[in-house]
Amino acid sequence: MKLLIINNLEFAQKQQKLSDLFEIYSFKRLAETLSIGDKNTHLAGIRFELTGDYKRFRHPSLHLHISSTLPVTCQRCLDEMLINVDLNFDYLISNVVASELDENDEIDWLEASPNMDLHELIEDELLLAMPFAPMHEKSCSKLNMQSGEKPNPFAILKGKVKST
Ligand SMILES: [Zn+2]
Repeated sequence: MKLLIINNLEFAQKQQKLSDLFEIYSFKRLAETLSIGDKNTHLAGIRFELTGDYKRFRHPSLHLHISSTLPVTCQRCLDEMLINVDLNFDYLISNVVASELDENDEIDWLEASPNMDLHELIEDELLLAMPFAPMHEKSCSKLNMQSGEKPNPFAILKGKVKST
């Protein structure tokens, strides 16, 4: 597994860019939550793009885009289903320890670090974004029998993860 350690403050100040593709298997914690079997050994990877900037927020910042298609287990019919992941994050880089900053849901802070683990950050964000109980929206084999059920509220609230 390749490690991806960056100096996040320098990355922002120099407006660097980095994009790559990680294998799903490289994310051990994430892989445990997925439905990975013999039939989907051809899985697409997890693509990301990291962009450094210091002008947009008049502060050093990182923009992270993560996209992939991940196999999960439908919690209604227990068949595999695919969810499209398309996530965008803006982080401001600060020398202040993140926990001492105001709690503001609109802004994500990252502590300035010469060795920030980008792979770990991507995995953490993916784990947070995964729907708690994913279900097929339309083509679920059990949908006709339990038509009163409501769709997964997490998928709607976040609006970030779409089931197919
Ligand atoms: Zn289903």
